[in-house]
Amino acid sequence: MRFFDHNATTPLRPEAKTAWLEAGEFHWLNPSSPYRAGAVVHAQLEGARTRLAELLNVDAGRIVFNSGATEGNNAVFATWARNFPPATRIAVGATEHPSVVEAAKYYFNDDIDWLKPAGDGVVCPEGVNLTDVSGVSLMAANNETGILNPWQDWVQVCHERGILMHCDASQWIGKMPLTGLGDCDYVTACAHKFGGPKGVGFILMPESAGCGLLGGVQEGGRRAGTEDVPGILAMVAALEAVESGRGELRDKFISDLREAFADVEIVGAESPALWNTVSIIMPKFKSVRWIRALEKRDFLVSAGSACSTGKGGPSHVLAAMGLDAEKASRVLRISSGWQTSGDDWAALRSALLECYGELLDDAAGSNSQVISI
Ligand code: PLP
Repeated sequence: MRFFDHNATTPLRPEAKTAWLEAGEFHWLNPSSPYRAGAVVHAQLEGARTRLAELLNVDAGRIVFNSGATEGNNAVFATWARNFPPATRIAVGATEHPSVVEAAKYYFNDDIDWLKPAGDGVVCPEGVNLTDVSGVSLMAANNETGILNPWQDWVQVCHERGILMHCDASQWIGKMPLTGLGDCDYVTACAHKFGGPKGVGFILMPESAGCGLLGGVQEGGRRAGTEDVPGILAMVAALEAVESGRGELRDKFISDLREAFADVEIVGAESPALWNTVSIIMPKFKSVRWIRALEKRDFLVSAGSACSTGKGGPSHVLAAMGLDAEKASRVLRISSGWQTSGDDWAALRSALLECYGELLDDAAGSNSQVISI
């Protein structure tokens, strides 16, 4: 199988697997247990916190371990709703992940200013009116398009005006440098986007802020619930093992693809983007037909975020960029990983060409294996 859907999830890195199995065997006790053996596991947990704090260059007290970015994003808005004065407004990127969009709407109803991207998909702070805004939530890298936001500029703008800044860095962490992320007041992330296990993540937040889950003293009383120590150790091992990505392979794929297909368009072609992601408006056929034709050939790709694919609705990200619904229905999201080779990319390009032939044949009714949608 050639896996080109790393923005949905990634395979476990060997370093993470080793850490996970070891901790599963030796550190499976409850870290809050009162006996000494429990304290040993607690020390492992705190060791992981210190290692992560070093990677992020922050105080360890700002890190709260949790189940991942959906939980973290919900916690940010729950916390803001509790702490901000009444009639406060928040500003939220229009191309955020649904776990940001829906949580923001749930807690702040109409008191949200949506930060619209320019046509290139980038959300810039210039000219944005932030009057009465107490918190800004803006993702570092978009999960559907890979387009990068200038979150460093946003941190500066926010802090000049006494506004709290949240950055959903789920797609950034593990692919891009961690430098400066600690300057955001809140950062949310999950391990399974960078070679760690699923169901584990962390939130970086002010030490004074609580997280919302009640009923236990774990995480300094800020997030109740027994910590998944093996998962946390595996997450940190994965992040420590991150290698740099090979953007030149993606760039070559794009230029080869443009040569092979006269009529493909790249979403945000001119924008800064993750080295692993390319969002393509394919010719003629709906994404689902391309996805199925590719899967028959052992290639796994996506149409948008895994979540929106499940829902089947149009992508709010592409709509916010001004893409019409028909074009958006033909978009494929290709996202590579650290182990994806030049051969894999070349094979994908050939497979796309083959699929196009098959889909055209189907459409002409000359193929007996018609794919039904
Ligand atoms: N935020 C972004 C940008 C994502 O890409 C994802 C996952 O697709 C999430 C949040 C949700 O993360 P999790 O799977 O940890 O709930």
